[in-house]
Amino acid sequence: MPTQKEERVVFTQAMRKTHTILVPQMAPYHFQFFVQALKTEGYKAELLLNDDYALIEQGMKYSHNDICVPAMLVIGQFIDAIKTRKDHDKIALIITQTGGGCRASNYINLLRKALKKARLDDIPVISLSAGNIESNPGFKMTTKLFLKLHESVMFGDLMMGLTNQIKPYVVSLDALKKAHQEIENLFEVYFEHRPHLFGNRYRRHAKKIIHLFNQIPVQSLGSKPKVGIVGEIYVKYSPLGNNNLEVTLEKEGVETMTPPLYDFFLYSFDSTAHDIKRYGGSKKLWLVYKALVWYIENRREKVRKIIAKSGYQRPISYRQLKKGVEGFIDVGTHSGEGWLLTAEMIDLIHHGAPNIVCTQPFGCLPNHIAGKGMFKKIKKHFPQSNIVAIDYDTSASQINQLNRINLMVSNAFKNHAVKKED
Ligand code: SF4
Repeated sequence: MPTQKEERVVFTQAMRKTHTILVPQMAPYHFQFFVQALKTEGYKAELLLNDDYALIEQGMKYSHNDICVPAMLVIGQFIDAIKTRKDHDKIALIITQTGGGCRASNYINLLRKALKKARLDDIPVISLSAGNIESNPGFKMTTKLFLKLHESVMFGDLMMGLTNQIKPYVVSLDALKKAHQEIENLFEVYFEHRPHLFGNRYRRHAKKIIHLFNQIPVQSLGSKPKVGIVGEIYVKYSPLGNNNLEVTLEKEGVETMTPPLYDFFLYSFDSTAHDIKRYGGSKKLWLVYKALVWYIENRREKVRKIIAKSGYQRPISYRQLKKGVEGFIDVGTHSGEGWLLTAEMIDLIHHGAPNIVCTQPFGCLPNHIAGKGMFKKIKKHFPQSNIVAIDYDTSASQINQLNRINLMVSNAFKNHAVKKED
């Protein structure tokens, strides 16, 4: 039990050997690599695969009904998984903490409160953040772990981008699944046997991944209307959060485009630097965040060049993305997804996906400002845009969501046919 002195249960050195860290599934293309990164750094880790939406009941039962839907789902997924296990004294939980101004940074406290209510407060909760917001003697964000997590996001994005571009056109889905499996195996070996992740091996790995995708037989690439997915970070990427939106859209016969996850992290680092510059703070910290953005962008640019050379659509740089919102929204708007959400919609429109689903947890204020709140302005500048906001709430009225998605998709097909004729 937590002592009076120490309010939270810490993850100790000894637990590193005995405890399995449960990782919530927040982004399927990336979190499988996160788990591999943790395992190869000496932790026992397990990705949670329970994905029945009914698990939100657990989140609702153990947390206040006023909290954000993503928090209810993450808490629900943890408690649902814990209740099916008998090793309560041998597990720990991990959750990301961005340190931003939005409620997301307090999910960790909400989770601890929920565990207490469920009488599971002996279970340690680890905060995963670039700035080591909370420390635990048994868990350290070392340079090596940081580099592995960095590559997990970078290669997760690569895999997601290529999958988005070819999945609707593959002759057989089995070939795609096989390529995904081979990439997973490749990374297991890469993370396991590479003592340091500096150097240029990541470029070779990017080429290997693209080569695997090139082996997959496809038909009429690029012939379907493109639909972009933007919105709050959790409901944008998590199939549990968005009722399997990617699959739903593919079934409707369109090509999906989901912006890279890395942009969100860059935006978070850059926003911290922005606040230090505008409101004051540690110059050293400002430099650290600026250097971090530079380092990551430098590596991503090399991967982007490889993508472009291979004939796939290359993502734009973070700098270009940020520049895109000039005249639309101030870059000081960075609660939740902030200006990034507007930037992603503008980028999608520029890159052939004027059809957009903007995913919003019910009652999410920052998304109503930078997402739905920007629709009118975007529509004025880009009359071809066809954007729909979809609310994701605790009761998940799927029929309502589907009706709105179908209407947007039918407009996408009409516009696509007109464009083809032109
Ligand atoms: S972005 Fe929205 S859903 Fe996410 S924590 Fe903030 S208010 Fe909640």
